[in-house]
Amino acid sequence: MHEEVAAYVLGVLDEEDLEAFERHLDGCARCQQELKDLAEVPGALDELKRQSSHVDD
Ligand SMILES: [Zn+2]
Repeated sequence: MHEEVAAYVLGVLDEEDLEAFERHLDGCARCQQELKDLAEVPGALDELKRQSSHVDD
């Protein structure tokens, strides 16, 4: 479940996974911290998007 932080931040989870992850996040300090880190590091999201997406403009 922890590894879904990135997918959650990217908004690529489907509704069911999103709800499951938010329930997990509620009680998981590790994911809360990871979420915070991802939000604070400039470029981290762009990097994740590059790695998780193969869609070209
Ligand atoms: Zn977690």
